[in-house]
Amino acid sequence: MVIRSETSAGGVPRIIDRNVAYRGEIGQERKAFCIDYIKRKKATLKDLQQRQLDSVKSNGAQISCQKGCVYCCMAYMQASVGECEAIVYYLYQKQPALDTFLCNYSTWRQQLRQNGDLFLECGQLWLEKSQAGSGNKIKNALTMAENAYRRQGMLCPFLSQGACVIYEARPFTCASLVATSPPENCSPVSKLKAETLVFGTPQIFDNSFYYGKIEGTVLAFMPLMVHGILTGGYEFLSNIPGLEGLEIYQD
Ligand code: SF4
Repeated sequence: MVIRSETSAGGVPRIIDRNVAYRGEIGQERKAFCIDYIKRKKATLKDLQQRQLDSVKSNGAQISCQKGCVYCCMAYMQASVGECEAIVYYLYQKQPALDTFLCNYSTWRQQLRQNGDLFLECGQLWLEKSQAGSGNKIKNALTMAENAYRRQGMLCPFLSQGACVIYEARPFTCASLVATSPPENCSPVSKLKAETLVFGTPQIFDNSFYYGKIEGTVLAFMPLMVHGILTGGYEFLSNIPGLEGLEIYQD
């Protein structure tokens, strides 16, 4: 699924109030799903971190990622619907994090538009890459599209003062990547090669949900999907294949 624009009921941007978001029977199931997802994610991220440390150490190297280094937060980051739902719940529990995201979002989105919405090509190519039989041509095109996205030098709207405000609930795509070369090699304009390792997290393909059955793997450009859920709630989610009908629970 490629999210093309953020929408909200009647086209008027609004943030779904946290009390409304988890109201009623379906709201309670939604809340329970998010709490459980965050709990499982914390455990998975802890395990992932240990795997990364062990693996890098066994190769005699060191992880060079450090607080304040933000180069990977210029990348195109995807997340599943479940992850984004859990991030929305997390934001509702952490007012400063929600404020940071909302404060950064408009400028970030405007800049993306001015640059030609390069994320659309990344999303489309990810979709094509996931189809059976896609070859090197698509893979190379995706690498080029992601590099072009990074060269914009745009920081993720969840970043504040060099730190991720949703760190505990950050997407698996963010957490799975570590560098072992000097941090400056990761700059999108660096001429030096960055040594990076990507550790698989199959949990990203977990399609479980509290309503309906999500069809296929739905990974989307994370900040856009989170904003879409915050502003459009069930109405936004009901556009996802398999979640049709969810909008009737909109307050
Ligand atoms: S979600 Fe956090 S870790 Fe991921 S790109 Fe954004 S700021 Fe960086």
